[in-house]
Amino acid sequence: MTPIWTGDIDRDSRRCQETGILGSMRFWYEGLLRKYGQYACLPLEGQGCRGEQLCEACRLFGATDRARRFRLDLSGLAPTPVFFRLSKAVRPISGNWLWNIFGGEDTGGCKTGAGRDVRFRFAVQALWSSQPFTLTLRVRPHEARSVLSKLAFLIDTMSREGGIGAKTQHGFGQIAILGTAEDGRSPTDWGELCAQGKRDLGGMESSARRLEERDLFTLDASRFFSLKFRLTAHPYAAAENAGDPPAGYDQSYIPCSFDIRYKYESKNPFSGQGMNRGMRPALREEYGRDRTALMCGQVEGSDAWASRIHVSHLFRVQPKGPYYLKIWGDVENAVGVAEVIASHILGRFRGAQQVPEVGQ
Ligand SMILES: [Zn+2]
Repeated sequence: MTPIWTGDIDRDSRRCQETGILGSMRFWYEGLLRKYGQYACLPLEGQGCRGEQLCEACRLFGATDRARRFRLDLSGLAPTPVFFRLSKAVRPISGNWLWNIFGGEDTGGCKTGAGRDVRFRFAVQALWSSQPFTLTLRVRPHEARSVLSKLAFLIDTMSREGGIGAKTQHGFGQIAILGTAEDGRSPTDWGELCAQGKRDLGGMESSARRLEERDLFTLDASRFFSLKFRLTAHPYAAAENAGDPPAGYDQSYIPCSFDIRYKYESKNPFSGQGMNRGMRPALREEYGRDRTALMCGQVEGSDAWASRIHVSHLFRVQPKGPYYLKIWGDVENAVGVAEVIASHILGRFRGAQQVPEVGQ
């Protein structure tokens, strides 16, 4: 439903790099395990499993001396240019932030003009298809059902509550599962697999082994929220582009995640006139500068970190149907933060409704 970002090292995503998808899957699987009281190690921080005693995440995704239990392929996706929709008042400022993140001459992009006349062209690409695409999971026959059910529950959770691939905080990676392909070899239907995966994970005995870390990603309701909105109107017809839409762009998604997550009106730093308006200012008013920076990420200076709050682009489930918006995150006091965000969104998007699931 929105382009998928799979590249992360060279800032480009034109080739499909399964590692980008696998990385996001492992991240979400760890979050699920922690929700169900399971230990999940941190291989990227030197706290990975070794030897015989493997955590559930390493059992499925592999460890130094253990192979992954499955293979993953994506097909039917093609590169698409990256562009963004930004509110007129903030296009020069927000465009520059996006330029720092996705642009730069070193990736082949260009930036001309200045101030209101600034123009951006991004050369990096994401992956997209206006038609359904296929994600194939291959497993060994003797463990097909147990491995596939966990993967099904995992991917289903990601598609409902979050997204897939990298840079989901920038709107990428919104997918919907249409079902298992009828190739005559799929073991069972998607719904049954997901239900079994959920039972398997929920039924595991809590592990005594824990990491004494506070800020690890978890889907536990005390830290995780996921809001979905159905929109009847949106203000992005009057917005402006940073970058150029691809040929044949059909408005099935509107790439305005950054504008929603950051701000759509800005105080003039020189005259002091105007006001900062947007999700980040709304959170800052409630939680102050430092906590908001922790939640929304920091790009200034050498001490940069990613946003823990993720905002989808606006996207459609059906051609010409209503747009949906999904916002999720893993933060302290998830319930309170979700309330502040919901009230901001419902105030900004006239006629918006909060819905339990995308598509409803
Ligand atoms: Zn492990």
